[in-house]
Amino acid sequence: MTVQLGMPQPRDGAITGPGTSSPPPRPEGLAPGLVDRYGRRATDMRLSLTDKCNLRCTYCMPAEGLEWLSKQAVMTAAEITRIVRIGVDHLGVRELRLTGGEPLVRADLIEIISALRLAHPELPISMTTNGVGLDKKAAGLKAAGLSRINVSLDSLHEETFTKLTRRPFLDKVLAGVDAAWAAGLGPVKLNAVLMRGINDTESPALLAWALDRGYELRFIEQMPLDADHGWTRRNMITAAEIRGILSEEFVLSPDPRARDGAPAERFEVRRRLPGAADGQGPILGTVGIIASVTEPFCADCRRTRITAEGKIMSCLFSREEFDLLGLLRAGASDEELASRWQDAMWVKPKAHGMDHVGLDAPDFVQPDRSMSAIGG
Ligand code: SAM
Ligand code: SF4
Repeated sequence: MTVQLGMPQPRDGAITGPGTSSPPPRPEGLAPGLVDRYGRRATDMRLSLTDKCNLRCTYCMPAEGLEWLSKQAVMTAAEITRIVRIGVDHLGVRELRLTGGEPLVRADLIEIISALRLAHPELPISMTTNGVGLDKKAAGLKAAGLSRINVSLDSLHEETFTKLTRRPFLDKVLAGVDAAWAAGLGPVKLNAVLMRGINDTESPALLAWALDRGYELRFIEQMPLDADHGWTRRNMITAAEIRGILSEEFVLSPDPRARDGAPAERFEVRRRLPGAADGQGPILGTVGIIASVTEPFCADCRRTRITAEGKIMSCLFSREEFDLLGLLRAGASDEELASRWQDAMWVKPKAHGMDHVGLDAPDFVQPDRSMSAIGG
């Protein structure tokens, strides 16, 4: 006798797997664009070019790497161009961030950026990279039409950098940051994740280094998106702690510019000068703090995410993802693809729930995908 296990069946080209299905259709008569049940509109697209990476940051990937997607499973340059065109022309996407995995490991990166730039002359296109190999590629990326770059840099100490990323590539990353600036890919933003007992005490030195060179440093609270599932609430360095550590050497005052949906809360930075009348010197630049865990900005989230294999994720912490690439490869029209994307965003969760519950509480479960497999 055959026992029916009730396994999910593919629908409309959907690839089945944990959390992958077709979204329920949204109600008729809604405003155009990528709107959700809570009145948010996604205009900022994060698109992952690959799940592969040449570093193994402990807060993201395991030492042995992950099982990479096959070449066939990953979106081609033409598929990426079509998906971005649908986002921009049909759904109100206003800015694009390329990410991964590590986008620089993709051999056809210049071809992808050139095609996107040709199709969208005015679209802000930025990229988040670990900077390895950027020294040789920065000028080409600029020429292809990349607008701006974010480089991840967690430490200026060779030993600490190597411990955190499990690769001895600090010099390459520093050369990449400088090359990006020289190529005109500014403002250069630097992303740093602080790990307790590893690089947390380095935050003032990192900030001083960035301010000296005119780079905008942003500290990101570590999120429970590591493949090793090693994140603990007690061990993470909170935004409040980061502000406290920085305040020993600097005076931080809220940046008067509107935040405008940006994940980072920005501060103007002055040196703390014990001898000065008001205790502070001139403005040296700004610093951003992305407090995704302790001070979440879900209510103002404007992001929509596409993974390297063409799944729509409405949130980094979504436990459901919806297949766009399978539908595209099955011959769907632009309108059908736009409609699937809208359905997927309509069910975007209200909030990730990390801020008010413990990791072991029943309503927050770490997603199956780790950061590199989503596209941070
Ligand atoms: N490989 C590129 C890089 O490292 O910049 C792009 C992809 S990486 C997943 C994008 C950003 O996510 C990086 O700035 C990285 O520091 C951040 N990130 C990765 N895992 C994280 C985690 N568990 N919590 C917070 N940020 C994380
Ligand atoms: Fe690679 Fe970026 Fe993840 Fe580090 S954070 S392992 S560089 S994808």
